[in-house]
Amino acid sequence: MTVINPIEEAEALADKLSGLDLAGRLSFVAGLGGRVVFTTSLGIEDQVITAEIGTHRLPIDVVTLQTGRLFPETLALIDETESQYDIHIVRYEPEQADIDAYAAKYGMNGFYESVEARHACCGVRKLKPLARALAGATIWITGLRRGQSANRAETPFAEYDAERHLLKVNPLADWDIEKIKAFVADNSVPVNPMHARGYPSIGCEPCTRAIKPGEPERAGRWWWEQDEKRECGLHVAEEAASIVAQQ
Ligand code: SF4
Repeated sequence: MTVINPIEEAEALADKLSGLDLAGRLSFVAGLGGRVVFTTSLGIEDQVITAEIGTHRLPIDVVTLQTGRLFPETLALIDETESQYDIHIVRYEPEQADIDAYAAKYGMNGFYESVEARHACCGVRKLKPLARALAGATIWITGLRRGQSANRAETPFAEYDAERHLLKVNPLADWDIEKIKAFVADNSVPVNPMHARGYPSIGCEPCTRAIKPGEPERAGRWWWEQDEKRECGLHVAEEAASIVAQQ
């Protein structure tokens, strides 16, 4: 029996996807079988992927993490997107018991006080719901792009997520922001109005600010932290996978 190395499988998939356009990439992974899940934050990149899934009626589960701290504009965009593409975006929410336990230990807005407290909040409001959203999935599609930050500069089209035991596909890895904006304009894709107010990357309301001219796209996320590689934990598993690949 041939044992398929998942890292080699991811590399082969990445090679295949590199030669396709966005619709082709999404159609190809949707046709691989198993449960294919796209997690959207309703950011402009994710809206491009949702538009393609909806337009081509692809068998991909579209889900979002409704953290309970999102901007009203983001919540409105979920409804608008569902209506425009006649799709259902499944909301995954944190457990109230977890929120209560967090608030008792750190305070509801304790994430400003330490990196540990911030990671704990993201764990409760994002990572645990993400684990439920990806339960049983074989492929996880994201809107990661190489141009979003130095931390994402090496984003591949596909990689093995060793922590979650699935293939993670990043079909916009090679798209720059100008290509994203052109697609949105050409296809009348609904986007968050906050992008036009200086918010290229939008997460939870208390943890997102507008960026200044010349700042990196994700500079407004957890801006009070000094770590240049700050992330919410959703996409750090790729580092572990790549370390495995290098050994
Ligand atoms: S982004 Fe902020 S509010 Fe949202 S889960 Fe993380 S720490 Fe909590």
